[in-house]
Amino acid sequence: MRVEILGGGPAGLTLAILLKRHDPAHRVRVVERGPRGATWGFGVVFSDRALDFLRADAPELHDLLAPRMQSWQDLTIVHGDTRVPIGGNGFASIGRLELLDALQREAQRLGAVLEFERPLADVRELGEADLLVAADGAFSASRDARPSEFGTQLDWRHNRFVWYGTTLPFDTLTLTFRAHALGVFCAHHYRYAPDRSTFLVEVDEATYRRAGFEAMSEADSLRLCEQVFAPDLHGHRLLSNRSTWRRFPVIWNERFFAGRSVLIGDALRTVHFSIGSGTRLAMEDAIALARCLHSDARVDDALARFQREREPPMRKIWDAANVSLRWYEGMGALMALDPHEFAYRYMTRSGRVDHAEVRRRDPALARAYERLHPERFG
Ligand SMILES: Cc1cc2nc3c(=O)[nH]c(=O)nc-3n(C[C@H](O)[C@H](O)[C@H](O)COP(=O)(O)OP(=O)(O)OC[C@H]3O[C@@H](n4cnc5c(N)ncnc54)[C@H](O)[C@@H]3O)c2cc1C
Repeated sequence: MRVEILGGGPAGLTLAILLKRHDPAHRVRVVERGPRGATWGFGVVFSDRALDFLRADAPELHDLLAPRMQSWQDLTIVHGDTRVPIGGNGFASIGRLELLDALQREAQRLGAVLEFERPLADVRELGEADLLVAADGAFSASRDARPSEFGTQLDWRHNRFVWYGTTLPFDTLTLTFRAHALGVFCAHHYRYAPDRSTFLVEVDEATYRRAGFEAMSEADSLRLCEQVFAPDLHGHRLLSNRSTWRRFPVIWNERFFAGRSVLIGDALRTVHFSIGSGTRLAMEDAIALARCLHSDARVDDALARFQREREPPMRKIWDAANVSLRWYEGMGALMALDPHEFAYRYMTRSGRVDHAEVRRRDPALARAYERLHPERFG
């Protein structure tokens, strides 16, 4: 089988690896617009549950990536000056560059062809193939060339975010909410290497405007964020990697394929970074597509099966991510809550964690919440 893949992110590279691993005779090429050794952003985080899927469905990939990851159990919510540690979660993280580097090497070792610095306007430019895979990310040009065939929906959300790094290695996944004269600032921060952390700053639209970020230079934005989060950075600087303010695009496609072209990863759908599942879903797409291609003799049947089997579990996570992003859009009003109430609301925000689950993960938080609501738990 000849498979052409546009986009060398986690989705495209994982698919190349799985196809070549299954049958070295497959001809697989990945075409990437960026140079080798470059990417945007810093580290990405996975929940323990997200790693379980990799361990179960692609154990070789799990074994390849796990030694490169940082891991820890706790989550901390910082609400003003109160820290609320929440146990029983479990996370692992990895630098985006390190993840891509490991996947690139593995794909090449298995015989996939990787071509860098080749931006294309559509995966169909890669010519005749049994399958054309658009793994070209949230702003997929291949998808946007024929939105009605894929049934593309795009919803630009209101909050703004900027993806920084820092040299301070944090102990836990931490969500810091600081009420500032300009509005509420949230930082999602966690270690992804022994000496590096992601430090992603999110604000609502009103705060973004009051702060004047729109007209501010990259350096001035960074400086203002350093000032707001000075109590959390302990003298460390924020690091920029093409770090500009963005809005999050929520993307969904009614049809996962059109003819011989199929969408995977962020090109297919995006999930807000607050649930830390975009990379996991991108890799799961590749795992599911490879499995369908291996079990169906005809590519058309494999693509139909891919949508049938992949859509229900993916939709559940997509729905949860959309509830989560709306929680952040309302964070300004929530800051008035007691810090434990706030942390509890955070934990239960997407409806996937109920009181029994909070009690299981962190009995102290459940007890603090029960004390705040004697009418329900008295
Ligand atoms: C701020 C932020 C934080 C995030 N944090 C997390 C996290 O903590 N955990 C997590 O799991 N996920 C996180 N994500 C989501 C995660 O980054 C994505 O879901 C994941 O990278 C999707 O993988 P992908 O391969 O589909 O797309 P991408 O990683 O975007 O890769 C697509 C590739 O295609 C290439 N490309 C695009 N257009 C073309 C073209 N025309 N020609 C050739 N090549 C092209 C790009 O250069 C890129 O290399 C975060 C996302 C954001 C925005």
